Amino acid sequence: MSHRITGISGLKRYVDLSDDEADEIERASREFRWAITPYYASLMDRKDRNCPIRKQAIPSARELEDVLGEEDPLHEEKHSPTRGLIHLYPDRVAFCVTNRCAMFCRHCVRKRIVGKRDYNLSQGDLAKGIRYIREHEEVRDVLITGGDPLVAQDAWIESLLREIRAIDHVEIIRIGTRTLCTMPQRITNELCDILSRYHPIWINTQFNHPKEITEEAAAACDRLLRAGVPLGNQSVLLRGINDDTDTMKKLVHSLVKIRVRPYYLYQCEVVRGTAHFRTPVERGLEIIQSLQGFTTGFAVPRFVVDTPIGKVPVAPQNIVARDENSVTLRNYEGKVWQLPNSVNWR
Ligand SMILES: *Cc1c(COP(=O)(O)O)cnc(C)c1O
Ligand code: SF4
Repeated sequence: MSHRITGISGLKRYVDLSDDEADEIERASREFRWAITPYYASLMDRKDRNCPIRKQAIPSARELEDVLGEEDPLHEEKHSPTRGLIHLYPDRVAFCVTNRCAMFCRHCVRKRIVGKRDYNLSQGDLAKGIRYIREHEEVRDVLITGGDPLVAQDAWIESLLREIRAIDHVEIIRIGTRTLCTMPQRITNELCDILSRYHPIWINTQFNHPKEITEEAAAACDRLLRAGVPLGNQSVLLRGINDDTDTMKKLVHSLVKIRVRPYYLYQCEVVRGTAHFRTPVERGLEIIQSLQGFTTGFAVPRFVVDTPIGKVPVAPQNIVARDENSVTLRNYEGKVWQLPNSVNWR
């Protein structure tokens, strides 16, 4: 964390930058902060401006050319009973306990809170969130997120886990973190020991491109898996980075090889400063269609569009006709099959 790259001169150790590009970075960074871990920077292509690692990490002047983007497209602030806590679904909450991240991804959905002045929630705000969870017995699933909660100190993480685990009706604890991808060195044996004391804990991370699946990342995943933590991946569909079927297929195959289950593929949100990454919803559908049936069932993520009314799964339509006594289904190759299926079977 303390060696992160936050200036042009540091960045020039990893990539060749023209004066124009350096000027662009300076202009964009006045609006949107940036920081890159030395590890993630080491994956960048020195010469290629279109490198998918570079595009996710290095600010672009195109971030300033966004007329549609909103600060809070998910209206998360409206669903927040206590600071950082979001209670949108009946049985689970998201708890944004910090705005700190190892890297400030250019496409981040929480650009409004991430990359401003660093903070962890205060002890008082944490206590309010935990009290809310304790008083709401319907909450059986707590997703600790941010920012990136694993950027915090071990002791801080452990005390948070201890308090949440002490609530009887909380069945599972989930952590959302991108450190597996941007700072895999964070996954120390000590951290794994802590996590293993508060099971069931599940972790979701975010790999967006096969170049990110390195030996270091695979080793970090392996440490967590050995500590009994199931791993899922939430990719973001990003124009010019992973919005083609070959890249996505390679990504999901690389993930299952390191035992990380593709969970969601997110439509890029209409967040201010991300216009150049957006694709039409149809692109996501085409990608899912190119995977479903063509590869391992569990390698296919669910394509979701997040909205103020929640995540909406968007799937290719496979029921092509229905009458009283049958349903006609289409398979991945476009073949159809009529199946006896009465409407009176209810
Ligand atoms: C995404 C999200 C969750 C978790 O949703 P799952 O579909 O169960 O993974 C919970 N709360 C909020 C506010 C979310 O945005
Ligand atoms: S790690 Fe997640 S929260 Fe942090 S900047 Fe990247 S996308 Fe946003």
